[in-house]
Amino acid sequence: MGRPACHDVERLRDAYADNELLAENALCIAEHLLLCEPCRGLVDETIRLKMLVRRAVLGASDHTMGEQR
Ligand SMILES: [Zn+2]
Repeated sequence: MGRPACHDVERLRDAYADNELLAENALCIAEHLLLCEPCRGLVDETIRLKMLVRRAVLGASDHTMGEQR
């Protein structure tokens, strides 16, 4: 992958947030994020959402533990 464009970042941001990209691709994205504020916001938001979801899922499974549903 050469220099990624904004639409590349948008396409890969899920995998990037999950650390599922090849190191070289992750590096390209990271470099783009340094220069591109909109993409940085997008990726930050994606990471934040994933953390919230993960926490909600963990919390929910804790909460429903022992409850009949
Ligand atoms: Zn961008």
